[in-house]
Order: sequence, then C-alpha cells, then structure tokens
Amino acid sequence: MRFLEEFRDPETARGLLDSIRVMARGLPQVRLMEVCGTHTVSIFRYGIRDLLPENIRLISGPGCPVCVTPSVFLDQAICIAREPDVTLVSFGDMMRIPGSESSLEMERARGRDVRVVYSPLDALQIARENPSRLVVFLGVGFETTAPAVGVTLLRAKAEGIGNFLVLGAHKRIVPAMEALLKTEGFSLDGFICPPHVSAVIGSRPYQVLAESWNMPCVVTGFEPLDILQGIHMLLEQILAGEHKVQVQYRRAVPNGGNPAAMRVMEEVFQVKESLWRGLGKIAKSGLEIHEGFSHFDAMVRFQPQITEALDPPGCQCGDVLRGVLEPWNCKMFGTLCTPQRPLGPCMVSGEGTCAAHFKYGWKLLQKNKAGFKGGHRGQ
Ligand code: SF4
Repeated sequence: MRFLEEFRDPETARGLLDSIRVMARGLPQVRLMEVCGTHTVSIFRYGIRDLLPENIRLISGPGCPVCVTPSVFLDQAICIAREPDVTLVSFGDMMRIPGSESSLEMERARGRDVRVVYSPLDALQIARENPSRLVVFLGVGFETTAPAVGVTLLRAKAEGIGNFLVLGAHKRIVPAMEALLKTEGFSLDGFICPPHVSAVIGSRPYQVLAESWNMPCVVTGFEPLDILQGIHMLLEQILAGEHKVQVQYRRAVPNGGNPAAMRVMEEVFQVKESLWRGLGKIAKSGLEIHEGFSHFDAMVRFQPQITEALDPPGCQCGDVLRGVLEPWNCKMFGTLCTPQRPLGPCMVSGEGTCAAHFKYGWKLLQKNKAGFKGGHRGQ
C-alpha cells in the first residue's frame, strides 16, 4: 500500500505543480494529448486538468478501444450473433455500444446467446464445454489485448478446437497518433503516450512521431504523480525546443517492450489497414488474423455482408475522438446522452471521454462555459 501512496503524495504533487507553473509562464498555449482512455479517467479523478495553469491544456485522444471500434463492426457482430448455433462472447464494455439498429445487449434480450467474459481464455473454455455450438469471441483492443487473444488462438490450434472463432478488430495505436498529426488544421505540442500498450511495444515505435513530426512524447503511468511528472517532462522538452521519446513509467515499460508478447502478435496477426470510428481508414493501423489461422477467423467463416453502418444520429464521438470537440460541447451531452442512457460509445465505455467528463467534470464544465469552447489552439 505504501508503494501506491508514494505516487499520490500531496507534497510532491505540490512541488511538481509549482514547477509546472513556473515553466508555463514562458510558454504560449500548449496542447498535450493523453492518448489512453485510462489516463483520461485518472486525470479527471484527481482533478489534474483543474490544477494546471490556464495555458496548459490536456485534450483526450483516441485511446479507448471500445470507442474507436466502428459501428460496422458492431453490425457484423450482431449479424453473426443471429446465426443459428452461434454463441457470441465479448468483454462487457462492448455490450451496450449501439450499432446501426441494435446492440449486443438488445440481441441478448431478444434471446440470442450472447455472453460476457473477462478473458479470451474464458471464451475458449465455453467452446470446449459446448462442442455443438460455434463460439465467436469479439477481439477488440490495442496491442494490450492482442497478445492474450493470440495466445488463445495458439492454444485452440494446439488442442484442435474447431468450434472457436475470433471476430477481430485489433488496432495499433501509433499509426492513429500519426494520422491525427496529418489531419489538416490539427495542432498539438506533445503526446502523453499510453502505458499499457507501451509495456508491450516498448517506447521505440513512438520515435516516428518525435523524428518525423517533431513531437515530444512521454510514456507516463496512471498515478497522479506519474501524470504530473509526465507533463513536467513534456514542458521541459518544449522549453528546450526538443522532441524526443522519454519514458516516465520506467517501472513497467522497457524500451524494447515485451518480446514474447510481440512474437505472439507477429505469429497470429498481420498488419493491415483498419477503419476507426472518427478517424476513418488508417494504413497499417489494424491487426488482422493471419491467413495461417483463417479457420479461426469469424470474418472468413461467416462473411457478414455489412460494409457500411450508421453512427447514432447527433452523436459527435468522432470529433471527441479526434480531440477537436470537448464532450460538453456535444448537444446531446448530459441530456439525451448520459451513462444511464448512452447514445455513443464515448459515453458507454468506462474509459470513454464523455463518460469521464460526465462523472468527474462538472466543475470544469462551469469553467469551460465561461471561457474555452473547444476546438484548436487559437480558435
Ligand atoms: S455526449 Fe454522447 S452523443 Fe455526444 S459525443 Fe459523447 S457519446 Fe456521442
């Protein structure tokens, strides 16, 4: 317990904040993006946005895997769930995400066999126990969850389990960060890089952002002092005119990542273009099941004929995920869209930006109503 408390020590936090305030005096408005949804929740939970100087703005990025999964994937999953003899298995946070005209939760209420698990290995166990059914696991997430799904597929192959399939939508975060930087009119001064993904891929993949886009990057942990120190390190780089990749979260992130996890990903998945909610198609941003494992690929087996899907009318999750709209500037926020009755994935997921704003952000809302209205620096 003492170990955790050290990362929440108020005196150290005050010292870091004082130092951040001194550094901020010499800077124009600075926009830093926390890419990871869990960072967004931590930043709100500990009131960090509110503590920073006015000219240091934190904006939320596309790092919630559930939020960036497009409606078309949900529609494909629902289409497969409606097949006879199919058991669809998913992590719980996918259940309430709206597709074009239904959700997995609604399908379960209509009698489809849709189940929630905490691990892909639980889904494999369901396949072992139900040999007469086709068990389809929804493989959603970044490089954080892809190795676990990869290991599960390797185990299914080794055991010769023929009724286990994966409908895959795994994504790679660095190409999405680069796609944001390529967006016309988008301005950013630094990335707070995601720690869980970095524990797998290491810090080197961010080098392209630092070198090609002159973008300071710091991989930062989730505790309040981690985040404050990460911001401090970014401001130091900005003041020095530097752009490099640094790791604040040394206790979990080696530069080279986790070689065993990367080997599994390379064996089971292949890098492909992928469609992201709000960001469109991004080259090399997806991990598709490798052709050698195609008999486990639900997309190959069922070939659901859905290529286009509608986002919920009025929902602006796409703009929120691109960091160009604060959730409370969405007309639906807090009225037609709440965590109890969510309209879009950013309000459904526990890591969603809209959900974090709703749960923790009312004080900031008052402040923002008085001043900042979202959008780019200088707007
Ligand atoms: S408030 Fe609701 S409708 Fe608006 S962007 Fe967020 S999730 Fe979508």
